[in-house]
This record gives sequence, structure tokens and C-alpha cells, in this order.
Amino acid sequence: MNMTRRGFLKTCAWSLFTMGLSSDLPFVRQSFAAEFNIPVLMYHRVGYTEGPLTVTPERLSGDLSRLLGNGYVPITLQQFEDYMFKQKDDLPRRPVLITFDDGYRDNYEFAFPVLQQYGVAATFFVITGMLNDRIRLSPEQIREMAKYRMTFGSHTVNHQSLGSMPPENVAFELNASKLALEEILGHEVTALSYPCGSYNATTLRIAGECGYSDAFTVRQAICTRWLPQLELPRVPVFSYYADVLDRIARAYS
Ligand SMILES: [Zn+2]
Repeated sequence: MNMTRRGFLKTCAWSLFTMGLSSDLPFVRQSFAAEFNIPVLMYHRVGYTEGPLTVTPERLSGDLSRLLGNGYVPITLQQFEDYMFKQKDDLPRRPVLITFDDGYRDNYEFAFPVLQQYGVAATFFVITGMLNDRIRLSPEQIREMAKYRMTFGSHTVNHQSLGSMPPENVAFELNASKLALEEILGHEVTALSYPCGSYNATTLRIAGECGYSDAFTVRQAICTRWLPQLELPRVPVFSYYADVLDRIARAYS
């Protein structure tokens, strides 16, 4: 078939256009992929106990109001993992992942109602060896929260520093906590938070062998897709910080 020069150019343009639409071509996808910066906020306790790790429910409510009012949309751990590790780009323009460490019962009593009031998701890292402690979350509370877009990850069995522990103990802390949570929730647990941010090369290897896909530190920075999956930074939020948006801004520097 003869083709005019104009027809040829039109065909080329159309081919380039359809290549751009295709998600099967990695080199094209790379050039069109959306890149997000994801602050991962790290809270601990919520309530009226003293100390830097506790924010009041009013303060948490104020933080959520500030975040939502400035265009941030809290995402689920699943959305975070899909974007970070599975090349799925359908995130809100300003995503934020909200996390709580240590699994205190006040997360159920005070944080959970506030989160529900704003209709937002959060992720909780619990210490499985303390689940029957009266000041920690119970398995029943975890199951109830999980019905409302709250997700859970491991914060080990005993909350000890993994970076200064024999490898066999690290393997126990990471394996047993993962299995205990999976038993409670009835599905796979993929996320981990290192107690006190302590880890080393052996910890990273064992975390990978145990099947964790993402692990969070206490290093202050913003998450991007190109960071090591088992050394993800967060933005700590302590009671003495005045403004959550200021903390996020500082984590960029
Ligand atoms: Zn902790």
C-alpha cells in the first residue's frame, strides 16, 4: 500500500501516542510515572499521660484537621505498598501514611475514635508479647479496628533493640510476632517497625527472609519510591512539636 508523507507522519504520531498509553512498556512507563513524596508520620500514645510520646486526642484531631485542610490525604498501608513496591501510581496528590508505634490501648480508646471521625486510615505497629497487658491493645481490639481500614504491623515480640541481638533472637522476634499477628488478623502481615529504630545488616537480611516487604525506622526523612524497602524513614511527632506541617517540612531538609 502506498502511503503519502503526511499519512506516514500521522501513523508515526499515532504509534507514539498509543505507546505512551501502554503500561506494558517499562521505558515508556518510566517517563510517564507519577512520583510522590510520602511523609510517614510516627505517633506513639494518644491520651492524657505525661511525656513526649503522648499526644492528646485534641492534638491528634488538630493535626488531622491541619493535614486535610492542606490537601494531604491519609492512605492505607496497602496503598503505600502498592505505590512503593508494585508500581501502582494511583495515589492522591498529597499522600500521607499515619503510623502509631507500641500498640498502647489508648490507640483504641482515643486515637481510633478520632481517626474514624475524620474517616482516615492508619497503621499500628504492635508488640505481640504484650497483647495481654492491660495498657496494650488486645487481640479483640485489633480485630475490631481492622474492620475500619486500620492496618497492623509487627513491632516485634519483646520490643528490644534488634541491632544488638544474636541473629537467632532476631529471627524469633521477627517471625513469632509476624505469625501471632497473622493468627489474629487472618491475613498476611508485611510491615515491620524496628523498636527504637535499632537494626543492622543482619536484621535487614532476617527481616527479608521472614517475608517482610517494608520496614520502618525512626530516621527523619520523607519516603520516596527509590529508598531501600527495609529502611524506610518517618516523620516523628512528639507532644512538644507545635505543628505537624512544620515537622513534615523539616523532614524534607
Ligand atoms: Zn517502640
